[in-house]
Amino acid sequence: MAAGWSDAFGMSVAAVFGLLFGSFTNVVIYRSPLDGLSSFRPARSFCPNCRVAIPWYDNLPVLSWLLLRARCRGCSQTISARYPAIEVLVGLLFVGAWVLSPPVDTVSSVRFIVLVYLAVSCVAVTFIDLEHLIIPDTITLPGIGIGLLFSFVFPYLHEGHPLFKEATPHVSSLFAGVGGALAGGGSLWLVGKLATPFLRRQMEEAGVEDAMGFGDVKWMAHTGTFLGAWGAWAAIAEGCLLGALVGVVLKLAARLRGQADATPIPFGPFLSAGVLVELAVPGQAWELLLHLTRPA
Ligand SMILES: [Zn+2]
Repeated sequence: MAAGWSDAFGMSVAAVFGLLFGSFTNVVIYRSPLDGLSSFRPARSFCPNCRVAIPWYDNLPVLSWLLLRARCRGCSQTISARYPAIEVLVGLLFVGAWVLSPPVDTVSSVRFIVLVYLAVSCVAVTFIDLEHLIIPDTITLPGIGIGLLFSFVFPYLHEGHPLFKEATPHVSSLFAGVGGALAGGGSLWLVGKLATPFLRRQMEEAGVEDAMGFGDVKWMAHTGTFLGAWGAWAAIAEGCLLGALVGVVLKLAARLRGQADATPIPFGPFLSAGVLVELAVPGQAWELLLHLTRPA
């Protein structure tokens, strides 16, 4: 009974922190694609329409949106439902991270921090890529550095990795992180190079030079530092599968509506979904797929 209460208390705390970080995620999504705008300065959020700084009591996650009836107090401009939706999503992901790794000691706390950091990054990348068709370097490049630093300082993040050696935990964990970055970024770059000759027509229509955006490559190098090589490959495979399924559905929907072709869709959201799957159930989704496709 006592354990049940402390679990419920822990999850509630995680949910509240998740809502607050969801609010920060909205800032990252809005600001990082814009040149010259830091996600940290100015610290106070402002209305994108009238530019008036938003007081704290109008900036409470979800609650303020409801109390303001989705309108800015200053200029009455509608505030998109995307804002509270992202806050709720990040809140739920924090609860998920708590369930996967309740932070009771140093090891589980570091794992919890890595889970929520990657979850917030996945949400930010997904919504930025959907809106702007880019994945900002301000997220991926520092992220690669953070991933390699974490790999070196906290070797237990990679202790299940084949490259991990008990005798040299810090160095072999760093190698596992570097290997993950090369596997994630490198294989995605290769997939893009191999796919380019087959996608000429679609690429000309979309006005792009490469089938694979370099933002996607850096994004998988970033997540690869944490996932390791096998995790990064599994996430890419799951992202490709999900992207292909959604691509076919959108193409059919466009045909049914009488349009020639669907608008190009970014790859970042699908890769991010694959990353979240590999964080939640490492290796299991891929094993399930192999099992299902294996001839009886
Ligand atoms: Zn306003």
